[in-house]
Amino acid sequence: MAYRLAEKTKALAPYDPVEGNYRIRLDANESFLLPTEVDRRKMAEAVGSVALNRYPDPLASDVCAAFARLYGIRPESVTAGNGSDELISLILSVFLQKGEKVLTLSPDFSMYRFYTSITENPCVILEKREDLSVDVDALLDKIKCEGIRLVIFSNPCNPTSLGIFAKDARRLIQSTDALVVLDEAYMDFWDQSLIQEAENYDNLILLRTCSKALGMAALRLGFAVANPVLTGILRAAKSPYNVNAVTQAMARVVLENPSYHREYPELLCASRELLSGGLKKLEAKGLVRKVYESRTNFVLVRLFHARAAQERLADAGIAVRCFEDDFLRITAGTQSENREVLGGLEYLLIHPERK
Ligand SMILES: *Cc1c(COP(=O)(O)O)cnc(C)c1O
Repeated sequence: MAYRLAEKTKALAPYDPVEGNYRIRLDANESFLLPTEVDRRKMAEAVGSVALNRYPDPLASDVCAAFARLYGIRPESVTAGNGSDELISLILSVFLQKGEKVLTLSPDFSMYRFYTSITENPCVILEKREDLSVDVDALLDKIKCEGIRLVIFSNPCNPTSLGIFAKDARRLIQSTDALVVLDEAYMDFWDQSLIQEAENYDNLILLRTCSKALGMAALRLGFAVANPVLTGILRAAKSPYNVNAVTQAMARVVLENPSYHREYPELLCASRELLSGGLKKLEAKGLVRKVYESRTNFVLVRLFHARAAQERLADAGIAVRCFEDDFLRITAGTQSENREVLGGLEYLLIHPERK
């Protein structure tokens, strides 16, 4: 007898982040800001009093309450996850019956397709326009003619850095009976959120994360916001103790201090503006093809040989992400990090042959 692998497992490959030791990491859209010294001490104390032998609060109630207060919503509409990644996986495995179709966009966050391949639901992809914007009418047409049951996309989008306005997201949700999963991982950097009205829709799950603007990628904490019916399903379907006690204790300190939420997005946006301004100078000199108008903490640039540029930046100790050999996605860093990546990029674009 021989064990036969399930077909869907055969092509599985681990998530492929940029790996290695880099002086400057501008590849994963992380924040360069840390909590204050005082709050880091509070976090250490909070971790010190975690009852290690006990399971954590299964619903992470205090963390959900702090998150809800921060965003002016009801805690009853919030479900915590081990990163919003876990919630994406959960939603795709819970809300679809066998054979029901998912729609996502391209380019967009790769995990949507990945988790759909695990659940074996058919995944329909709608390509964005040439300028990488989203055609909401085309999206609605596609939902209708393909009989889509769940639509998932990021707004603002990773990796395009572009977003659709709240009124268009609203129109999309109101014009379909598919479940809309709106991933607002970067919405702390823009003002077009639907978070305060998420409960009003019967077909919306909105996702947020602590990994980007709040600077807590290491803790793995994300949230789903939805009406009580959908929230009840998420809470019932998730694994019972998904958010660990250390994360709960540490995240509370940051979520209960509104100054991070007020100040960090602004600081990160200011850094992005510097990065984006520098890249636009390269665009004006004809060294890069296009710099996209960013609503996030990273900038997408189109160039002629993006892969080669990424490799040469890596040789200089600077990590950025490359997409489709045409685009670089560069996270906004500290002033000196931004200066280095801009200088490095300009040099290598002026001297394409030199190593
Ligand atoms: C970074 C990111 C996430 C966040 O994932 P976590 O698991 O919460 O760290 C979710 N969606 C998008 C589009 C992202 O870029």
